[in-house]
Amino acid sequence: MQYIDPLTAECELCGSKNEYPLKDILEYKVACKSCMIKMTRTALTIHKEIREHNLEVWPIHFLLDALDIFKLDIDDISENEIEKMTHINDFNVVLKRHKCGQSIQMILNTPSMCKIKSEIDISKLEEYSLNELALLAYPDIKMANE
Ligand SMILES: [Zn+2]
Repeated sequence: MQYIDPLTAECELCGSKNEYPLKDILEYKVACKSCMIKMTRTALTIHKEIREHNLEVWPIHFLLDALDIFKLDIDDISENEIEKMTHINDFNVVLKRHKCGQSIQMILNTPSMCKIKSEIDISKLEEYSLNELALLAYPDIKMANE
């Protein structure tokens, strides 16, 4: 997801539009150049938009990572299988069909799974849905402490 940097943001209080470095907005450091209030809501909105985007693309990253680690090609999976891939087990079915002979647990070493593997019950790995995992990877955005 791309934002223009510096970003033109409208003050949530006085409505004046000014440019701010994106990094400062995301770190909740921006105060309105006109009225000086902290533009917390603006930062929160952008964080939420980024999260929404990340949640949407996580299953795609997961799939690409999985194909990569098991040395499969995207063409090895039918469009129908991709559409119906909602759980880890769905990928395991693909693995078995290709007689990969490797454990689905190898998936834990992929970039998309690395940061969440400490939060999941590995003995139930196949039961996790991709949406559930995406939510672990990108937890709800909380207001940063002032
Ligand atoms: Zn203002």
